[in-house]
This record gives sequence, structure tokens and C-alpha cells, in this order.
Amino acid sequence: MALTVRQSKGVIVEYGEDGIALDPDRKVTDYPIFVTHAHADHASAFKNPDPVKHATEPTYRLLEALRYRGLNNWKPVTIGDKVKIGEIEVRPLNAGHVLGSVQYEVSTPEGTVLYTGDLSMGNSYTMEPARAVNCDLLIIETTFGAPQFKFPQRKEVALEMIRWAVMEAIPAGYVPAFRTDAIGNAQEIISIFNRMTNLPVVTAKNTTKVSDIYRQFGHKLDYVDANTPEGQELLESGRCVVIAPKGAKLSIKNLDSALASGWAAIMRNRAKAFPLSDHADFRELLSFIRRCRPKRVLTFHGGAMTKGFAEYVRKRLGIDAGPLTKRQETLMGPVSQAEMRRKACAENIVRAVRIPGFVYTEPWMVREMARRGFSKGETEAALRRLIEVGVLETTSAGVKLP
Ligand SMILES: [Zn+2]
Ligand SMILES: [Zn+2]
Repeated sequence: MALTVRQSKGVIVEYGEDGIALDPDRKVTDYPIFVTHAHADHASAFKNPDPVKHATEPTYRLLEALRYRGLNNWKPVTIGDKVKIGEIEVRPLNAGHVLGSVQYEVSTPEGTVLYTGDLSMGNSYTMEPARAVNCDLLIIETTFGAPQFKFPQRKEVALEMIRWAVMEAIPAGYVPAFRTDAIGNAQEIISIFNRMTNLPVVTAKNTTKVSDIYRQFGHKLDYVDANTPEGQELLESGRCVVIAPKGAKLSIKNLDSALASGWAAIMRNRAKAFPLSDHADFRELLSFIRRCRPKRVLTFHGGAMTKGFAEYVRKRLGIDAGPLTKRQETLMGPVSQAEMRRKACAENIVRAVRIPGFVYTEPWMVREMARRGFSKGETEAALRRLIEVGVLETTSAGVKLP
């Protein structure tokens, strides 16, 4: 029985007969699903009403506010509380990323896998930083896993944003608008302006809906929706700051938009882009890995720029690392495709030879396995193995159950 992980429209962790699917983007197995947080690239399992989906209550409420339709079959999970799936135990732990976000610690008799989802350990105004967790196999996101991503102190970024809004945009006759992710960064910016200025915050579209859920879970955020009379009045006065999703079309006159995102760290036009990130940067990722003390690291959720991250892990930390792919991986290393097929073939043979004492000829076996998609070589290798371990016996005519 082996603990294996692989990527297949999400991350699949299997142990023996049991398995779970982490952040799948559509149904690929019948395994119970665990969703880390409400961002669309992690929560799309909630578009399908059929499968069982585990998620924290804030995550569920956010998806509800954003009108996801597959909200049936939700099973709430609570940070720190274990969920048992056969011999697998799943424990959600704070990921520091956005409201309700968790990492999943997956324990089996063979070892522990930590799947981070999206991760932040920065000094945020709305989130507690993620803590490292000891594990055998760490599956870590690498959105900003390249050395050029080095985010400044949160307070520095906050002061820069305020300076631009209050000393540049407004005096020039514009309404400053921050274009940013509706979940996470938007509430961080509301909190920044609430804490450090008297400037009213006007929120647009989904930003309001999401912020209302933050409030329900105890976050003190002060904002006015753009489509209320009060919001309209503020926009006309020109003395407010607008927070809206990146792509949202706004019918507001004299708007001056700036981007707030981790990607700003590598943009040339810094004046209109602020490096506000709800993800860990390069150094934070490495430090997190070091503190988890894993035997192996598998990376996911990176792009072209972060391809080299696994190599940094190997060279700087001396830990075996590589990207997570469709290939099955164990605590020790990848399971080769050939080995996987031989195992599957052996299982099929065992299922085929049901009559005790009856002799099955090798040509019959090869034909039968060919029907199930295995080559002659694979069948012969699987037979040899089954004879070696005593599951089958050889006779002059063929093989039989002992
Ligand atoms: Zn996210
Ligand atoms: Zn993500």
C-alpha cells in the first residue's frame, strides 16, 4: 500500500483504497473533494452540485455571495479539526491568504502530505500569517516563486497607495480607483484606508458582496457600495477612493485607475501599480519550506517565470524537489509509468483467474489482458511477479491459483 500524489484537474492524494481530490477544477474521481479557498481557480468544484465538497464556512459563504450554483453537498471543515476519509486524515490549517483559506495536512499511516493551496505569511492587515507544518511531502504553490518577486513591507506599500490617492489623484481632480482581486486584496485596501486615512471607501460590483462576508466574520471594514445614493454622492464629490475588480466596467467620471497586485513587483510603470500581494514571495516560500522540513517538495500553480523554483529548493535547501505533474509520486520519488502499468496488469490478472485449481494457459492470459489494454510484455512481466510472490503457481500447461 503506497501513499501517492499526482495532478489531475487538481491534486489527487491516494492511500490504498482511499483518496481525496484537492481543489479539482472538475470531477475526475469519486473521491471526496477538499477546497482550500474561494478564488475561482481553486473553488470550481462548487460549480458542480453532485460531489461532496469540503470547505470552511467563510469559503462557502463567499461562494454563495458570488452566486456559485453547485453549493449542495457542502461539508463544513473547521481549522484544526480532522476529517477521516478511510485511512486518510485531513486537517485544515490557516493559509493566511484570504478569508477562510486553508492548507490541508493529509496524514496516512505511511506519512504526511501538506498541500498549501495559496499561501501568505506576510504582515497583512486582514489575515494571520500561515504557519509552517512538519510534513514528509510538501506540495507548495509557487505563484511568485522567482527571485524577482520580493515584496516590500506591507506598511510601505500602504503608504505609497495612500500617497498616490491623496496627494496625486485627488488634487488633480480625479477619483482614485484601485483595481484588484475582489477577495483578499480588496479588503486589505479597505482596511488600509480605514486605518490610516479619513477618506471614504467606495466599493464596486463583487467587491461589496465579498466585503460584506468579511464583515459577517468579524472584520471591521468601512465602505459604501457605488450603487447606493450615498456612494453616488461620494463619487460626485470626488473625495473618496474606489475599489473595484480588475476587469469591471465602471460608469464613473474622472476615474484614475491603479493596479494592486503582486505582479506589480515586476512592472515598469510602478506609479500606477502597487505590489500588494496575498501570496508569499520568493524568500518567504523558501523559508516556509525550510521550516516544514519535508523529505520532498512538489511545486504547483506557477507559470513560465517560476519554472526554476524547484531547482532553487534543491540547491539552496538541499531538499529533493520537482514540479507536480500527472505522473504519480511517492514520498521517495516518482512511480514510473511502466511500474504503474505492471501493477494494474497484475491486479487485472488476479481478477481474471477466479477458479481455484483451474489452469489458465499463457496464450489465453495474454489474449485476455490484451482485451483489457495490456501488451504481451506487460502481461508476461506481471505473471512472473505474481509467481514470484506466490499469488500464482506455474504448471506445465500454464498458471493456476495455489
Ligand atoms: Zn487564491
Ligand atoms: Zn491560486
